[in-house]
Amino acid sequence: MDQGLLREILTHGTKFTNSPSDKFMLMMMCGQAKLENDNKGVNVKRGFRAKIEMGFRPNMSPLGYLHDKYAEKGTCKIFMDPVRGPIIKEAFHKVAYEGWTGRSVKRWLDDEVNLTTRKGKQVTLSMIYRMMDNPFYTGRYEFPQGSGKWYDGKHEALITKETYDKVQEVMKCAPKALPGTHEFAFTRIFKCGVCNSGISADQKVKRLKDGTTKRYVYYGCMKRWMTGCKQPYIREEELLDQLYKIIDKVDINELAAIERIKQEIERLTKMISSLGGHIATAKVAEIMPDIDVYACAKYILKEGTKDEKRDLLNHVNTELLISDGKISFKGKVKP
Ligand SMILES: [Zn+2]
Repeated sequence: MDQGLLREILTHGTKFTNSPSDKFMLMMMCGQAKLENDNKGVNVKRGFRAKIEMGFRPNMSPLGYLHDKYAEKGTCKIFMDPVRGPIIKEAFHKVAYEGWTGRSVKRWLDDEVNLTTRKGKQVTLSMIYRMMDNPFYTGRYEFPQGSGKWYDGKHEALITKETYDKVQEVMKCAPKALPGTHEFAFTRIFKCGVCNSGISADQKVKRLKDGTTKRYVYYGCMKRWMTGCKQPYIREEELLDQLYKIIDKVDINELAAIERIKQEIERLTKMISSLGGHIATAKVAEIMPDIDVYACAKYILKEGTKDEKRDLLNHVNTELLISDGKISFKGKVKP
């Protein structure tokens, strides 16, 4: 206006012309608006801080908690998600005390308990790691993150500080799984003897006193988390030991098994001859009918590779059940 570019300003009900008194009025009104605006900003921040100090963390609450959408604005309560909360608590315990990895937690969440996010999506591995790292679950939180300012939340703690610390310790030195180590050989062959659902496996990595780690595979009822089937877990070695003792009573499809053994002998024969050795193939064919499938099975259970064991068990006709940590049969049993 001073530069002569604007002649007058019209607002609702007021007209400002290029006169000293109008310009003074305009300046006053702009200043007042700015003051109001700035005050609003301060109030929002103050409200925020009050909310934090009262124990309500602003922003989205993590998975395992829900917001009370109908609470008075600003005092919105966070409470435990009755479905996801206990599952997440269980996940923390599995990692802290049972040697579970993030990956085994993921498999458990996806395949057994079917935990999804609030939007109904599968929980990703990185979400699991972030969750395990989030102290909010202990009932306390830092805000802003990294500021060193800790507050006691109004929300219920899902886990104790001890559990949280243990998880951090375990997560820090968790050995990364080697490719292929996550295959479980016998999940499809056994069934739960109590509820007849499938068997699932999990691995636990135990830290030994000398600092090395050992991997254990456990098998247990798949519906454990849904129907509350209380069947105990059984170690893979124990399962194989038991199977070894009872294999004589199990009905093995001998023809198929012999066929498979034959293939294996042929493969080895070829390999030996390619190395310049020699096996009388006629002899192999001759001894074929005399092969004792049960002796082979025992050998495989004791000395075979994981693939060989799985292969052998694919030829078992008897339905194998696990109840109370013991293998039992159903259906066809060898006479
Ligand atoms: Zn069961």
